[in-house]
Amino acid sequence: MFELDPAAPNVTASRYRQVSVAAVDSLDPASLTAHFTGREAYVRTRFVVARRRDRPERVALVELARDGSADLFSPAPAARVLAGAEECAYVRDDRADPGIASHLAAAAQRCPGARCVVVEGRYSHISFILNPDPIEVTVVDVVPPAPSKLADQVRRVLDSTEELPPVTVTEQIIDSRDLLAEARRRSPEPGGGPQPVLVPCRGGGVDIDGAAVSYLDERPEPAGPWTLLGCERSRRIHDWFYGAAPAGVVDWCPRRFVGPGILAGDGASPDASGPSGAPVAPAAPGAAAPGALVLSRCCLLEEGVERHPGAVWVPWGATLGEVRQALELLVGERAGAWTRT
Ligand SMILES: [Zn+2]
Repeated sequence: MFELDPAAPNVTASRYRQVSVAAVDSLDPASLTAHFTGREAYVRTRFVVARRRDRPERVALVELARDGSADLFSPAPAARVLAGAEECAYVRDDRADPGIASHLAAAAQRCPGARCVVVEGRYSHISFILNPDPIEVTVVDVVPPAPSKLADQVRRVLDSTEELPPVTVTEQIIDSRDLLAEARRRSPEPGGGPQPVLVPCRGGGVDIDGAAVSYLDERPEPAGPWTLLGCERSRRIHDWFYGAAPAGVVDWCPRRFVGPGILAGDGASPDASGPSGAPVAPAAPGAAAPGALVLSRCCLLEEGVERHPGAVWVPWGATLGEVRQALELLVGERAGAWTRT
């Protein structure tokens, strides 16, 4: 009579009309079951958020069995309590869209220990997430410019997509100036003072303490004794412009900061030729946690996405469509993680 596994992860309602709200006098499980069994319910109603009449923030989640009747209203042949009042939390958040699983998961994160979180959000809609266990995605990106464009794009996609499972995002943001400082600590520069730095474009707005900064997109002439702070693509452009490698290179490509289990040796890197001879700073610590799903970007990718086990890359100038595609591929690795009714 009931097909839903009450222990399944991330149970959400796919349609707002599946969820109704009812005021009741008691949240006692036996009285809830008795109250809703045989009671007439709207044809689409499958879940009831039962609220205590005198304390509406006290709720329980009830599931109704349906007999397949096409009538607009029909009695529910059975009812069961999916989450009792002690297991439920109630969140009111006018910014949360209850139709977006990641918004439900974000609300659930504010209620640790609650097995079911009922969310009253935008448009005063009410929905729930049962057994919240969102998929964790780590966004690895480089700043400046800050804040991270990719992290912002991921947020915007998650904020507007009802077709994605609940996702929580961890940002692993690398500051390219820290990479430069680290490289300089490792090999102090001759003459004491900071050597000039070349960055890919003026739009990045990089300000580096005391160092003269030039911008590769302005094709400065002549070439200086600069350190290139950029990705492999910038290095190739430098070679094209000046017919030689820069004096130094600090590679900020996020590929360098993603765990070896994800990228090294899987043979899918688009650039196996390695650096063009200039010294490259070693990888910085703080790679994404083992097992985390990683979303990052690389200037060597022109368009589309590049998929690896546990990681997907988008181009440096990724569209929202590419970011969404990358998220879909990543969460596809967690089949069964979302129980959409
Ligand atoms: Zn790259």
